[in-house]
Amino acid sequence: MTKWDVIIVGAAQAGCAAAWDLAAAGRRVLVLSRPAGQGKPCAGGVTAKALNRYRFSIAPVVREVVSTLWVGRFPANSQALHAPNPFCVMTERAELDAFCRQQAQQQGASFVETRGVQSLRQDGRSVTLTTREGERFQADALIAADGAHSPVRKLLGERRFAGAVAIEGCVPRDQLSRYPGMTLDFAAIKGGYGWLFPKGDHVNVGLYVWRQGIASPSRELLDRYSQQQLGTRPSGVQGYPLGTWLPQSRLCQGRILFAGDAAGCTEALLGEGIYGAVLSGQLAAQAILAGQLASYPQWLAGWREELATVEQLARLFYPLMPLSTRMLQGNLGETLVEGFALGLTLGQCKRRWRGASIVGR
Ligand SMILES: Cc1cc2nc3c(=O)[nH]c(=O)nc-3n(C[C@H](O)[C@H](O)[C@H](O)COP(=O)(O)OP(=O)(O)OC[C@H]3O[C@@H](n4cnc5c(N)ncnc54)[C@H](O)[C@@H]3O)c2cc1C
Repeated sequence: MTKWDVIIVGAAQAGCAAAWDLAAAGRRVLVLSRPAGQGKPCAGGVTAKALNRYRFSIAPVVREVVSTLWVGRFPANSQALHAPNPFCVMTERAELDAFCRQQAQQQGASFVETRGVQSLRQDGRSVTLTTREGERFQADALIAADGAHSPVRKLLGERRFAGAVAIEGCVPRDQLSRYPGMTLDFAAIKGGYGWLFPKGDHVNVGLYVWRQGIASPSRELLDRYSQQQLGTRPSGVQGYPLGTWLPQSRLCQGRILFAGDAAGCTEALLGEGIYGAVLSGQLAAQAILAGQLASYPQWLAGWREELATVEQLARLFYPLMPLSTRMLQGNLGETLVEGFALGLTLGQCKRRWRGASIVGR
């Protein structure tokens, strides 16, 4: 059995970010990935702050560059919020993951496909993993970057949480009478929003609910929403939970660290998870490189604090509809897109907005 320095379970945003840093530092890294399929359900919006975190340019997989956000019901009742610079780019998630995998491979990370993890064992010195195919791998440390359902968390008997939930699908551009800009519509569903994300040859349409149980973003509701907004029903519809539980979750167990949605690194207000996945993947790698596995939670403490603040915002924001939408269509929204264009987080935008309100008084 080959001994690796680090095994990473999951070859998406968190896993590839960790693999890149570890391989670039000369560590022997094995990434276990699922066979490529339709791709992970995701709208593929990558904000400026996430772009700033990648170790490489993702330009080859960018389909649209966005500097205007439409807030409200497309097309008649939405308000355009213009940022001085682009604040987001649109990608196809399967393309983005494949590209990040390629980048990690070029740094020297090895990838092996598996249908899943059968068992995990760890002692003071190493972690041993057996796949469903019966292959055994051993490493000094393991990063679980296996998403919101995280089979590794389950195997380790870690606590499960209910986070946010979203559903998405696609409408080809040639079926549309009007190609929308990036749109968030907070009247689409209780406790969340509907979105339209333009991707060049199609539009991604979806529904997000910030906490499971407030409303159900079902296939029927998405079909109806898409019919109203785009005149047709979407194809390739997939729903999935989002890991928004970082403020409550445990981030490591012995030699195993959790990153990305497996750790709950997605913010709850809008469900942006790519940034938290890349950030936590990189920090998990840095903790391993520093030989300080147990201090990984401290390295992520700033992001944990941010997500706790954003969760509070979500608690205030959604019950105040439609007032919240009106605020977002005005000064608050402008501060937000300007802040996003500067690569700020939601918490940093909030502090900036409060500062501007106080100065404006
Ligand atoms: C519908 C929807 C739309 C979204 N839109 C956006 C958006 O526009 N922008 C944004 O920033 N965020 C968005 N998010 C959130 C974002 O998708 C996630 O936060 C992000 O993908 C988390 O990345 P990750 O690498 O932690 O996990 P994931 O992307 O979930 O990846 C986990 C990987 O692990 C693999 N895996 C799982 N189990 C195993 C196993 N046993 N062995 C091997 N591999 C395994 C999976 O196949 C997958 O490739 C959206 C989420 C949803 C559900």
